[in-house]
Amino acid sequence: MSKKKIIIGETLVAPGEEVQINAPIARLPSHTVIDIPVVVYNAMEDGPVLLLMGGLHGDEINGIEVVRRIIENGFHRVKKGAVICIPILNIFGFINFSREVPDGKDVNRSFPGNKNGSLASRIAFHLMKEIIPQIDYGIDFHTGGADRTNYPQIRAVFKDPKNVELASAFCAPFSIDSVYRPKSLRQAAGKKGKKILVYEGGESARFDQYAIEEGIAGTRRLMKHLEMVDEAPEPSKPNIIIKHSTWVRAKFSGLFHSFFKYGQKVKKNEVIGTVTDPFGEFKIPLKSPASGYIVGLNNNPIVHQGDAIVHIGIANSKSVNAKNKKGESI
Ligand SMILES: [Zn+2]
Repeated sequence: MSKKKIIIGETLVAPGEEVQINAPIARLPSHTVIDIPVVVYNAMEDGPVLLLMGGLHGDEINGIEVVRRIIENGFHRVKKGAVICIPILNIFGFINFSREVPDGKDVNRSFPGNKNGSLASRIAFHLMKEIIPQIDYGIDFHTGGADRTNYPQIRAVFKDPKNVELASAFCAPFSIDSVYRPKSLRQAAGKKGKKILVYEGGESARFDQYAIEEGIAGTRRLMKHLEMVDEAPEPSKPNIIIKHSTWVRAKFSGLFHSFFKYGQKVKKNEVIGTVTDPFGEFKIPLKSPASGYIVGLNNNPIVHQGDAIVHIGIANSKSVNAKNKKGESI
């Protein structure tokens, strides 16, 4: 449960206070100190502590924008509990337009981190030491990488009933069963009993207004479910549960034309696009290996043999909103 005080570094955030803290992480070779700005709102009334974090991958701009707009609109000023907002965790990647930190390491494969380790490992260590022990729940906002766009979706561990409950409360268009990736934030926090959902929406380095809006609305629904706020927008769509997914890969190199948009339903063996030879020698149809939904789509027209270009989520026949222990819809 929540503590009445939130303490980050030397700064104490008492009940009823909002504070912006600049957590120092490292220095650039130029001596410039790199701070990670953290906004904390601690309500007067006790309740859960929720972490909202973007930019673990520095170029995944939609997650950064979700957290920024939540702060701008004051949605973090909850009635109960506390909200810790970190719009950009990987400041290095953000200023470098890259997913990773400058040494090429992925922060989300560096948890739980090490005080004396690589830069990525140090960022992970600071987060695990300073923030994670104080939270109850978190949302880690991401976007598709490398020219791939994701339809708004929550990734959670379905075998954990609390994860299912939180994903259902968030009610993104898709909830996708996703086991813990080794050395990820989700796994490291999960080992400490902290429930973190991953939100994916849009593509790196491109704003996707729909994904941003769904991210904000879902966060507000989760806050309402946790009784931190009274009001939240209704879901724009039912929450479709995806237990399995598969990638369609390019069999040949060429130019990819998609016949579908992300989020659309496809049938097994339906032609979902073509890979054509730029010199007119061939045109290869791509068929969907299963009935389902396009949960992720490559936006780069130039594809190489073996590239993953369409991510098909295979929908569960039994649907949507999970039930709580009493059998009520949540
Ligand atoms: Zn990411």
